[in-house]
Amino acid sequence: MANGAWLGSVLTRLGGAFERLVFAPTCGGCGWPGVWWCEHCRNQLSHLQLVVPRCPRCDRPQTTISHACPDCRDWPPYVEGVRALYQYRGPLRSAVHRVKYRGERRRAAQLATVLAAAAPELVSPWRSVLTCVVPVPLHPIRQRERGFNQSTVLACCVARSLDRPLFEDLCRRRWTSPQVGQDRAARWNNVAGAFRWNGGPLTGTVLLVDDVVTTGATIVAASEALVTAGAQAVVVLALARAATYP
Ligand SMILES: [Zn+2]
Ligand SMILES: [Zn+2]
Repeated sequence: MANGAWLGSVLTRLGGAFERLVFAPTCGGCGWPGVWWCEHCRNQLSHLQLVVPRCPRCDRPQTTISHACPDCRDWPPYVEGVRALYQYRGPLRSAVHRVKYRGERRRAAQLATVLAAAAPELVSPWRSVLTCVVPVPLHPIRQRERGFNQSTVLACCVARSLDRPLFEDLCRRRWTSPQVGQDRAARWNNVAGAFRWNGGPLTGTVLLVDDVVTTGATIVAASEALVTAGAQAVVVLALARAATYP
């Protein structure tokens, strides 16, 4: 073997070993190597659609069936519904933290595959009227820090699964401080008017994709920008729904 070819083959093998080491899956809950979920953590995932009762509009788990849902009672009527795959707790919450604070892009892609597979069923009441899929954007500074927007990773897969175009023209107009630890009123003030649509005119019902829905402040502010751009209604698909305010 010529020296160049030998060196090339060694580097390729080293590269492969490095890739397996760095990019090998680990459990989203406990970090156990070799799998995206270990059996213990997988058993603790809470599938939201199995939790009853939930608010029929915003998917918030409720303790009793109530007509005055504390999350969505003040939302504008054009936010027609929210559907989420998981409850935001336990191992799923750890997995989202790994994506957001450790920049684990491959985990985001793995979660996106699972959400996309469930998307047709989750949004079935609206599926025929959806015109496009739009991710909730990060502020450009935060996106540079993280290297990617986890909601865009989710939305890409969902758009393919639903066979609808993906539009990434929703932008953060200004910096908003992290919502974690803020109460409901502070969250609403923080994001009001924070979004702007930079694309062409929208029509019909838009599917907005976010990673986690909590009070709904972010999705309502984003929906306002979509409706200003011509959308008639907005449906939200999220990876997870928080039942309490973290
Ligand atoms: Zn685990
Ligand atoms: Zn509700």
